[in-house]
Amino acid sequence: MGRGPGSLLDFQTTFADEEACIEYLAARRWPDGFACPKCGSNDAWRLAARPLWECRGCGRQTSVTAGTLMAKTKLPLRVWFWAAHLMSTHSNGVSALQLRHQPGLSYPAAWLLEAKLRRAMVNPGRAKLQGLVEIDQAEIHCREAEPSPEIGGRQGMITVIGAVEVVDRETGGPPKWSYNKKLLDTRPQRIRLQVIPNNEAATIEAFVQANVEPGSVILTDGHASYGRLQALGYRHDPKVAGLMAAHLVLPWVHRAFALLKRWGLGVYHGLRRKYVQTYLDEYCFRFNRRYWRSVSFEKILNITAAQQPLYRHEIIGSSPRNYATGKARRSAKLASETADLARKPRLEPLPETSL
Ligand SMILES: [Zn+2]
Repeated sequence: MGRGPGSLLDFQTTFADEEACIEYLAARRWPDGFACPKCGSNDAWRLAARPLWECRGCGRQTSVTAGTLMAKTKLPLRVWFWAAHLMSTHSNGVSALQLRHQPGLSYPAAWLLEAKLRRAMVNPGRAKLQGLVEIDQAEIHCREAEPSPEIGGRQGMITVIGAVEVVDRETGGPPKWSYNKKLLDTRPQRIRLQVIPNNEAATIEAFVQANVEPGSVILTDGHASYGRLQALGYRHDPKVAGLMAAHLVLPWVHRAFALLKRWGLGVYHGLRRKYVQTYLDEYCFRFNRRYWRSVSFEKILNITAAQQPLYRHEIIGSSPRNYATGKARRSAKLASETADLARKPRLEPLPETSL
């Protein structure tokens, strides 16, 4: 089987049943054939109608989901695949609220499924941005009113720093740049977004060093916290505010923030502070692969298969939530959100010309 399925029809044909999903996953987990994790033997037989392989040498049984994000899942693989398909191919992703309309999937199960897949969306070995990069900060609204000590920021707001790699529309390479030169015919390539606790220089510099290749040109506004970028090995071009509106001098990072805000409100009805970084990761993942949506489906599953298992209590960082309490409140909220969804027009996909 080649690339992941592009359309809904492709998806339904390719993954018609559980067996097709098991085969797909097995081919990706064991591209050179099954190898027993205990004794290394390649000689194994598949247990009938189950995703289990039994080693003929030592008798150990290995599940195709063992050691992955899907370990010990109670959900059919087809549901996982369906969620990964939606999250990678929908231009705006999909919220747990929408997913729960799948047969047999409760809201908590859908939420957890998405939370796990979202953690497969950061490739630990990803390359840093390079060439010409716009960097700026923004405050976005979050759902909770209380400020959180580990994230900081104003009440009801989260501070986010963003970096956008800008390329020449014609060549796809870095635009010809010199100080104070106006850049024409550019487009954004890859982006990075991160929640930051404050706007101090050390915070900003840590983000830049983690995300941008030294030697790159960095365009920013005149914020004092960018003052040492030159000393850190970057070519820094601060566009001092006042002469031109910020969205004119840093157009792409501003566009990214604008779309992020719309997306957060449109799909998730406001981002939650506690998990906001994973939503930012999801946004970046989909943005950076916006021309290769069918490939990103496979990417999620590939990365997923290489991840360690991740359990619910690790995601929420505390003892399991009691879903029975506040049930009435939540169902009222869900009803109103569902009504909202029905009313709201779907956001357009990101056309190359607008972003
Ligand atoms: Zn064995």
